[in-house]
Amino acid sequence: MRPNRFYDVISIGPVQVGSYNNGRGQIRHAAACTAPKCGFSTDHGDRSAAELAARTHRGTV
Ligand SMILES: [Zn+2]
Repeated sequence: MRPNRFYDVISIGPVQVGSYNNGRGQIRHAAACTAPKCGFSTDHGDRSAAELAARTHRGTV
């Protein structure tokens, strides 16, 4: 299930990082790869952790 209110979305390579409110008053930070069939997706409580995950992700293409 994708949260639909991402903001501050950036792209790092094929990975998009965005922040969102999880509906319980908490800001979460997700990194998700846009490459087909990759499926890489992580969720973090810290923006820098999400960006780091995006930066260190290596696409399979
Ligand atoms: Zn990927």
